[in-house]
Amino acid sequence: MPISSINPATGEVLKTFEALNERELEEKLNRAAGTFREHRRTSFAERAGRMLQAAEILESEKKTFARTMTLEMGKPINAAIQEAEKCARVCRYYAENAEKHLADEIVETNASKSYIRFQSLGVVLAVMPWNFPFWQVFRFAAPALMAGNTGLLKHASNVPQCALAIEEIFSRAGFPEGAFQTLLIGSDAVPKVLEDPRVAAATLTGSEPAGRSVASIAGQQIKKTVLELGGSDPFIVMPSSNFEAAVNTAVKARTINNGQSCIAAKRFIVHEKIYDRFESEFVAAMKRLSVGDPLVESTDIGPLATEQILKDLEEQVKITVASGAKLLTGGQRVQFEGELSRGNFYEPTVLADIPKDTPAYRDELFGPVASLFRVGSIDEAIQLANATTFGLGSSAWTNDGQEREQFIDELEAGSVFINGMVASDPRLPFGGVKHSGYGRELSYFGIREFVNIKTVWIKDDIENTKTSAQ
Ligand code: NAP
Repeated sequence: MPISSINPATGEVLKTFEALNERELEEKLNRAAGTFREHRRTSFAERAGRMLQAAEILESEKKTFARTMTLEMGKPINAAIQEAEKCARVCRYYAENAEKHLADEIVETNASKSYIRFQSLGVVLAVMPWNFPFWQVFRFAAPALMAGNTGLLKHASNVPQCALAIEEIFSRAGFPEGAFQTLLIGSDAVPKVLEDPRVAAATLTGSEPAGRSVASIAGQQIKKTVLELGGSDPFIVMPSSNFEAAVNTAVKARTINNGQSCIAAKRFIVHEKIYDRFESEFVAAMKRLSVGDPLVESTDIGPLATEQILKDLEEQVKITVASGAKLLTGGQRVQFEGELSRGNFYEPTVLADIPKDTPAYRDELFGPVASLFRVGSIDEAIQLANATTFGLGSSAWTNDGQEREQFIDELEAGSVFINGMVASDPRLPFGGVKHSGYGRELSYFGIREFVNIKTVWIKDDIENTKTSAQ
């Protein structure tokens, strides 16, 4: 099946690519394995030089890359520029820190010398989503290549131009042919690649069903996986918080990337003492957002990335409202005249009084739809926050020291942000618990996921050493 790049703001087919045939795939796998044997022997300094070059390219051509992202998946252009800049930062971070993060660790034992050495693992397959089409890939590739692995990217089928642009960046940065390759294949071809003995491990960022499938195949093959899956992050607001900051951040945290972020705040859990004011100010702010052409700088929310995502979201909201939830604003497609008439636009939407067992209560809503909940205490807030199968990020707003500690201890999530919006940072580990996945990206944890943690134990045999020296 051909792989198509479609502008979600206009419905225009931008480009179509043929998927790799068997021979082409075989060549790429061979090249990845062959290049690994050389690349693993290069010094950190050599790899760092290339990674810094990749950062330079990203920065100097950020507007071009941003336009490709926006045209393929609809994120507002300024956010796309910031994404390219962030990719440059992660390249720099690992160029500067990989050697330190992977340095031998001496451990005192009964040996003359014992230590831990971190060695590259081989070819790593990365199955990636479209929502941050550059960032998701760079945060895998920068540590993987700096550790001496080679990478194969199976990107989401709706962002082939981004996938090819990334391959070109690494090639122009001086990485050898085969160090990082894009595979234009559909998800049906992933099992074959995963099962190939030349592939050592895999990482997947995407939905729960995709994660289950990749992890089970890799499990059969006894191959390491990292999974970064969905989330339904809570955003809890307590009476002692800075109210204005909480409301403003809440709007941004829900609508960033057109509402299509795994760590977007999705459930707003607000203490009853401030709930009514929060609801009215939050709804007013959501109504003020401008929906439209993502290439226009003043646009807050562009189109959803595919027509299917729009249909799914529409359905989730309809079912939730039909089950008794209150629709405070939105709930409809936005219909434009002219060029944008075939775009996947959806109104910023707010739901309240949401019954249990509805999509908005239970599932991840991947679009600009916020779910509001009223609670009477911190215990109730935490209980509701944890009443989900997901456990990616969480944000809690309070200026009470005791409450802060309770949130940090009791929220079941891979991260807790107090008085701030959940965000990734190359210096901090990123990942989830429960059905949000396992393993970590970024920081020194990320670079240690795809390495052999090798124990080295040496006993100096003095008598024999002397004899052999004579
Ligand atoms: P998706 O449908 O799971 O797709 C993600 C990637 O997996 C794509 O490359 C897709 O290829 C591939 N894929 C889909 N089904 C597969 C299967 N059965 N076997 C192997 N590969 C398969 O997810 P999405 O809709 O693009 O992304 C949205 C989801 O990703 C949300 O749940 C979001 O929360 C999550 N996400 C998580 C993180 C995180 O860091 N935790 C970050 C971003 C997004 P095709 O495109 O060819 O189908």
